[in-house]
Amino acid sequence: MKVLANDGISKSGERKLTEAGFEVIIKKVSQEQLKDYINDNGINVLLVRSATKVRKDIIDNCPSLKMIGRGGVGMDNIDVEYAREKGLKVFNTPAASSSSVAELVFAHLFGGARQLYHSNRNMPLEGESRFKELKKSYAGGTELRGKTIGIIGFGRIGREVAKIALGIGMKVIASDDHVGEAEIELEFYNHQSIKIPIKTEPVSELIKHADFISLHVPAQNKPIIGAAEIEKMKDGVGIINTARGGVLDENALLDAIEAEKVSFAALDVYENEPTPAIRLLMNESISLSPHIGAATTEAQERIGIELADQIIAHAGK
Ligand code: NAD
Repeated sequence: MKVLANDGISKSGERKLTEAGFEVIIKKVSQEQLKDYINDNGINVLLVRSATKVRKDIIDNCPSLKMIGRGGVGMDNIDVEYAREKGLKVFNTPAASSSSVAELVFAHLFGGARQLYHSNRNMPLEGESRFKELKKSYAGGTELRGKTIGIIGFGRIGREVAKIALGIGMKVIASDDHVGEAEIELEFYNHQSIKIPIKTEPVSELIKHADFISLHVPAQNKPIIGAAEIEKMKDGVGIINTARGGVLDENALLDAIEAEKVSFAALDVYENEPTPAIRLLMNESISLSPHIGAATTEAQERIGIELADQIIAHAGK
């Protein structure tokens, strides 16, 4: 069988597939040429991350295609139900990247609380007086210890975020459509563990009580956080979105930053990917990353192996 890894695959995933007898093609075929490429080369398995779209047109017109694998979590770039109706196997790697995304949340959060992204932009020095001036402007950061993080979407990633937050002495409240009572098991390096109950609240309450809010829901039809929600938040709140662009209203966020209601924000995902609004990119109160939540070496290794295992299992090898 032929596998096209259109958004790449880790070395160990590739090795596992090759050893099982698959031909693995690692190549970036443009969206426009993808259908023809699959047909011309008799591709049986299409592997994608978030960049490649797999819509009805490909599903209907590529008879050799038997499986679609998504390296990562969100499957909004694939017409999943339609593909399954047509008999294709469609799968993702839900657990492989959770801790990487959670760590990125804290990379942004620690940076935001001390305005690191802002000071990094302004540090190139022009003498002693400039240094003193900057020292003054970046004083007054906040500690995370003792503050409350509100986690919206308490699934795999939300729970990993909670673990790190608890580990550094933060209070955690969570909101999730499908989670009533919640508990987190904190596991330590020496294999000891403790269970900690987590307070859950509806989003409408959580937003009033959190010092920082982190979003971990799947793609939504309309934003969960818009102007009305931000209005109810604490003054000086920090907002982090590593979920999907549309879950946070970007214009409402920019207005709230301008009005100093929101002290900082961090975004890994955008309404318009891969061309986020320039107003976001230029705003010094927003810490930015280019959708790299899952892009650690460790997560990519786990993703590649998990994809290979599923392909091998579905192929009955
Ligand atoms: P998950 O399915 O384990 O958890 C999502 C949770 O959100 C579920 O518990 C669900 O009940 C809850 N939820 C759904 N709609 C909600 C709503 N309106 N209000 C409150 N809760 C709601 O998924 P996960 O593995 O934790 O991933 C979460 C999202 O993170 C993914 O869907 C994906 O969009 C995003 N993600 C981003 C990156 C990145 O690179 N930045 C990487 C992986 C995943």
